[in-house]
Amino acid sequence: MMLARLSFTVMVLIGAVLMNFSPGDMAGLAESNRQGKIRVAVDPHLPPFQFMDEGTLTGFNIDILEKVAEYQQLEVEYVPLNLEQSVDALANGEVDVILGIHFSADYAERMEFSDRFFTSSVGVLVPAHEDHIKGLADLSNRIVALQRGTVEYDFLRNIRRVKYHVTSSQAQAFELLQRGRAEVFVGNRHTAEYLLQEYGVANQYQFADGYLLPLEYSLAVPGGRYQLLHTLNRGLRTVVHEGDYTQIYNHWFGQDPALVAQRLRTAITVIVSLFAIALMMMVYGMYWNRKLQQEVDNKTKDLQEANRSLAYQIEETKNSQQFKEQILDSSPRGIVTCDRHGLITSFNPKALEIVGVEEKPLGRHYSHIPLISALFKGKISQVLAQGQQFLGEEYDWAPDGQTTYHLRYYVYPLYDYEKHVTGVILSFEDVTEEYRLREQLFTQEKNRALGQLVAGIAHEIRNPLTSIKTFAELIPSKFENAVFRQEMATHVPKEIERLNQLIGGLIDYAKPRRAKKEPVYVQSLIEAVLILFQPSVEKKGFRVRTNLERDLSINVDAQQMKQVLINLILNAIEAMEIKRNKAVDAQAEGLTLHVSAWADETDVYIAIKDEGIGMSMEELNKAFEPFYTTKPKGTGLGLSLSQQYVAENNGRLVAESTPGQGTVITLIFNKERDANGQDTGNR
Ligand code: ADP
Ligand code: MG
Repeated sequence: MMLARLSFTVMVLIGAVLMNFSPGDMAGLAESNRQGKIRVAVDPHLPPFQFMDEGTLTGFNIDILEKVAEYQQLEVEYVPLNLEQSVDALANGEVDVILGIHFSADYAERMEFSDRFFTSSVGVLVPAHEDHIKGLADLSNRIVALQRGTVEYDFLRNIRRVKYHVTSSQAQAFELLQRGRAEVFVGNRHTAEYLLQEYGVANQYQFADGYLLPLEYSLAVPGGRYQLLHTLNRGLRTVVHEGDYTQIYNHWFGQDPALVAQRLRTAITVIVSLFAIALMMMVYGMYWNRKLQQEVDNKTKDLQEANRSLAYQIEETKNSQQFKEQILDSSPRGIVTCDRHGLITSFNPKALEIVGVEEKPLGRHYSHIPLISALFKGKISQVLAQGQQFLGEEYDWAPDGQTTYHLRYYVYPLYDYEKHVTGVILSFEDVTEEYRLREQLFTQEKNRALGQLVAGIAHEIRNPLTSIKTFAELIPSKFENAVFRQEMATHVPKEIERLNQLIGGLIDYAKPRRAKKEPVYVQSLIEAVLILFQPSVEKKGFRVRTNLERDLSINVDAQQMKQVLINLILNAIEAMEIKRNKAVDAQAEGLTLHVSAWADETDVYIAIKDEGIGMSMEELNKAFEPFYTTKPKGTGLGLSLSQQYVAENNGRLVAESTPGQGTVITLIFNKERDANGQDTGNR
């Protein structure tokens, strides 16, 4: 209630100030000076606004006017009159100003009103026990005390059946109620409150309706006296502006409406600020929440992505791990890996089978497994230190001293992803069966070749023998002949030497084959083979041309190489024979077999070139397949075995052929260096 009233007052004041306030009007000031003295009609029965206190006129309105007068340099003379008298006095020119008059349309026709400087309201005051009167509607047949000529008087006059006890002042009307001569007081609420306090009867009365009508107090001047009005307004505004109004208000009412307004404004500002801050924080919070949520979402997404890819990687790894294990498990070769310290890191089932152990010796040193130890012997350190590879090595293994297994094995470095040697891989296979089979085929082929050779050689053996025999038969008769003796001394040893060579070649060839690599002179090797063929070749009318570089050495098994050369030369001769048999003209006469050997920086080449029938591309491809033959009595093993042997001796075999023209087979080997140098890796 209090706050509502105050705020109302405040609003009115603020309105007044905002509407017309413009201090420092020189014209106004000049006029007020001319005014000099003003006579002011005052109703002294309107406490606490204007009333007599111990013989002195005092009150809120008085203080305000005093200040106005001070600012506007007016001299004030008070004329105590009630409201009605005041109005008349103003009309008659007896007074210049009425202090504390409320605005009414009626008065406004006769006088000018200054800015309002106080707003109160009309209250309906009843005894405390009176609970039937709640408002104006309940005033019928009640005795109402009120001041004549007031807003409330004009208002209530229109309500019928109200019994009025009309007085000429607020204070008198209040006294009627207090003395029980009226049931209701209707009038200035502030005045009523003040008097209740004054008489100490506040608890005996109550306001049935506290804010019936607004009461706005102004100063009034006679109609047309605008200069004076202007002076008063200016004074009022200065009073407000200079802060006197607040002081006076506080003095009389305890609370400064401007202060209240200020406080209210402050409160509102604070509340609004707090609200704004709260809103901002909320919005900010929401923003950050969203942002955080987004961030969390993103991170979650990333995490999910990472998880997915991790799961995928795990799966992949598992797969590749499984895949590797499957490869290892399925391999027909034994595979063993060791780390740099020689500790076994993997051992596949085939390795278990060949080695003959039950459990994988993982984590143990390889030296505990005799076979592995034997295969690694002299190699592991070179593999680890230099990354050297040992490929296609062979090892005869007799675990029980009786059965011999023939193993082929490979020792090479194990690299990590950065190409660092992290260990050793050993892969090995049991080639015993392959060996047996090859041995068989070899024997077969050898026998056939031997048969052919022998057929060709028999004659050749017979020739020197015949020659020797002839010499021998002629000894008795021609011994004395010096020429004969000379001839015999020359020819017989020659023939015997030739026989010796032939037989030597045969014996070499027939010897059991054992791969035993050693430096071999190419020239001697080829010549030892060619001597076997020379007789038959010449007999068949073919020529042999050799072009052999001297002092070429290769590291091979001599017997195997001889076998290879024999096979190739046999094929060459057969190809030329077939060509000649087919040919009807003399073109096929004088076909030549070329055998050459030469070397470049690193390699040694041996070429067997014939002028035989040659082969088409298709035939050439098939020629190396075992058992492929175009000959009625062929085995189809010659080339395949040759290729096999060449490979076993770390060489390569290259074949070129032109149908109808001839064939060249070239063997290529690493150059054998001097005995102290590095060899071809097969030592
Ligand atoms: P075979 O000599 O027992 O037939 P090979 O393996 O030695 O078996 O040769 C296979 C086949 O390759 C021969 O049958 C022949 O058709 C062809 N061939 C081999 N060498 C020559 C060559 N120098 N000229 C033409 N054809 C050849
Ligand atoms: Mg052959």
